[in-house]
Amino acid sequence: MPKVRLPDGSVMEVADGASVAEIARKIGSGLARAAVAARLNGKLVDLATVPGSEGEQSLEILTDKSDEALSILRHSTSHVMAAAVRRVYGDAVKFAIGPSIDEGFYYDFDLPERMTEEDLGRIEAEMARIIKAEEPFVREEVPIAEARRLMENAGQWCKVELLDDIASAGPAVGEELHDAQAKPEPGSATVTLYRMGDFVDLCRGPHLAHAGKIPAFKLLSVSGSYWRGDSSRPMLQRIYGTAFFSKKCLQEHIERIEEAKKRDHRRIGKDLDLFSFHEEGPGFAFFHPAGMTVLNELVEFWRRVHREAGYVEVRTPIILSEALWHRSGHWDNYREAMYFTKIDDEDFAVKPMNCPGGLLIYGDRPRSYREFPMRVAELGLVHRHEKSGVLHGLLRVRQFTQDDAHIFCLPEQLTDEVIGVIDIVDRIYRAFGFEDVRVELSTRPEHSIGTDEQWKLATGALRDALKKRGLDYKVNEGEGAFYAPKIDYHIRDCLGRSWQCGTIQVDLAMPDRFDLAYVGADNREHRPVMVHRAVLGSIERFLGILIEHYGGDFPLWLAPVQAMVLPISDRFNEYGARVVRQLKGAAIRVEWDDSSDKIGAKIRQASLRKIPYMLVVGEKEAAGGTVSVRDKALGDLGTESVEAFIARATDEIRGMRLRPEAKGEERPQGPGRAEIRGEGVKKELGTRREA
Ligand SMILES: [Zn+2]
Ligand SMILES: [Zn+2]
Repeated sequence: MPKVRLPDGSVMEVADGASVAEIARKIGSGLARAAVAARLNGKLVDLATVPGSEGEQSLEILTDKSDEALSILRHSTSHVMAAAVRRVYGDAVKFAIGPSIDEGFYYDFDLPERMTEEDLGRIEAEMARIIKAEEPFVREEVPIAEARRLMENAGQWCKVELLDDIASAGPAVGEELHDAQAKPEPGSATVTLYRMGDFVDLCRGPHLAHAGKIPAFKLLSVSGSYWRGDSSRPMLQRIYGTAFFSKKCLQEHIERIEEAKKRDHRRIGKDLDLFSFHEEGPGFAFFHPAGMTVLNELVEFWRRVHREAGYVEVRTPIILSEALWHRSGHWDNYREAMYFTKIDDEDFAVKPMNCPGGLLIYGDRPRSYREFPMRVAELGLVHRHEKSGVLHGLLRVRQFTQDDAHIFCLPEQLTDEVIGVIDIVDRIYRAFGFEDVRVELSTRPEHSIGTDEQWKLATGALRDALKKRGLDYKVNEGEGAFYAPKIDYHIRDCLGRSWQCGTIQVDLAMPDRFDLAYVGADNREHRPVMVHRAVLGSIERFLGILIEHYGGDFPLWLAPVQAMVLPISDRFNEYGARVVRQLKGAAIRVEWDDSSDKIGAKIRQASLRKIPYMLVVGEKEAAGGTVSVRDKALGDLGTESVEAFIARATDEIRGMRLRPEAKGEERPQGPGRAEIRGEGVKKELGTRREA
C-alpha cells in the first residue's frame, strides 16, 4: 500500500490509486472542502493527482490559507476567463499566456475585433455560468509533438511558438512566462494540457479541481500588450482580472484599486507639475521645477544622513570603455540591459551600475588598512534597457539615480559596517513614515563563485548584524547573487503594496576582478572586503512610491510649495506681498494668489495643488500683522502672527514631521498580512499593471 508522510510527521497508508482529494477526505471532510491543491514531494500538484506507490511520499494538502493558494485560484480563474472568451468569440480568438500576478491574473488574446470594457460584462457572465456548472479542469500529459499538432490545427500560433521553445530550450521558457505555464521537467518530452469543456490550454498546472471552487472574481480592464513584451511582435489584447476566496476580500481589493487610481503618481505628477515623459525620451523622466524641489530635498536629507554616518562622496563618468565592462563581468551577465556607443572609433558603454567606476578610484593609489572602513557614496546616474511594455511612470524607467555606496573594510569590521547600514536604512525609512519593513536574507546559490570560507564570512556577518539589531528576517535559501549574499529591504506603502528598495551585498567577485589591495598592519598586501549598498534604490522610483504613499500630500519639508498667501481681495495684495517676503526671508517656499477670484475659489485652487498651508489675509490680518492659517488636512487653525506661523512651519520642517491625517478622511487600509502572503513577493515591480 502506498504511504504518505503528512506535514505533522505522521505517516498514513492509503488505498492503491487513491487521489490526493480522496486522501484529504479520509483525513477530514473539512480539509477536503478547503483543499485547493497539494504539494507532493515538494512539487505543486492538482487534487486529482495520485501519489506514487514507491516508498514514502511527502504530502501537504494546501487550503485557502496556504501561501500558494491565492495564485492557484487566480491562475485557475484565468483559464476560466479564457474558456469564456472562447465561448464569446469562437474560433477567431487565439490564446497567448495567462499567469497569475501579484494582485490577480491576466490573459493575452489575439483577436481581430477590439475588446472594450463593455465586453468584460459579457465575458464575466459566461464565466459565472462555467463556475455555476462546476466545470472541471482535466489534465492530460501528451508528447510535445502531439500537443504541437493539436495547437497548429487549431491555428493557435502563440502556443505553437511556446511549444517550439519548450522543445528546443527546455525549462528556461517557464521563467519568461513568470508563472505556471508550460514548464516541463528538464529532459521530459511531454507537456501537460488542461481541458475545460472545448477549451484546451498548454499549462504546467496545478489548478483547482473545478471552476465551482472560485468564490469571487472580477475582470478589471482590457489593454494592449505586445506578444512577449516585444514591440516588434504582434499587439495582443490583455484582460486583467482578480479573484479571492471571499466576496469581502474582493470588495476591499476593488476599493483599494480605486484608491490607487486616485494616488497614481503619473496623474499626481501631472496635476502638481512635478515631471513629464516625452516620446523623444521613452523611459527617461523630465523633472519640472516643482519635481526638482522635492528631489533636491530628498537628496539633501540623504546626504546629511550619510555625512553623519561617516560617508564621503564621489562621482564617476556615465560613459566608460567597453573593456572595463568585460573586466567587471557586466558584459557577460548584463549586456542585454546596457547601451553602447563609440568615441573616436573606440567602443564604450553607458554605465548600468556605478561599481566599476568606484573601483577605479579605489585603485588609483595604494591603500592602507588605516583608511578602513572606507565608506564611499555615489549618487550615480545609470541607464538600463527595459522593454517598452514594462515602462511605468517613475516606477519603471530606463534612466535613474542609484543612491549607491561601496564600503571597503577588513573582514573583522564587516559586521559593524553592515550594522551601520542597517541603522541608516532604518533612519531613512522611518523619516518617510514607512514603518512596515520586511527584511530578507538571500544565501549562496547553486552556481556561485568564491570559496566556502568567503561565503561563510560574508553570510555570517549579514546574519550577525541582523541579529544584533534584533530584526526579524526571512531567509531565501540559495537566492543570493552568484557573487554575493545579500539583505533586501521591502517597504509596504499605505495601500499595502510592497516595494523592494534597499539592498546590502557583500561582494566576493569584484575585489578579485579588479585586483583590489590594501597594505595591512603586517605590511603585506591583502584583499579588502567590499560591500555594495543602496537605501532608496532608485531615487526617481522612490519619489514615485512616495507620491503614491502620500497621495501627493507631501510632508511640509518635501512639499514643492509649503504655503500659499491668499488675499481676500486686491485691497490686501500689498499686505499679502509683505507676508510673502517675510516667509521667503525665513526660507519657506511660498507663493501667493493675487488673482481677482473669490477667496473660496482661491482656497479650492490651493487645495487642488495640495499646498499644506493656506494663509488668508484680509482687513483684520493686515491691521494686526497676522495671518489666518488653514491647514490642508486639519482646516482652520485660527489667526496667528506671521512670526508665529513661521515658527510653526519651521518647526514642522526641521522635525521632518509627517502631515496629519485629513479630517473625516481615513487613510486607506492595506490588506491583512495573511491575504498578502499568497501573492508572491518576487515580482513586485515586474508585474505592476501597465494600464
Ligand atoms: Zn494553467
Ligand atoms: Zn556597487
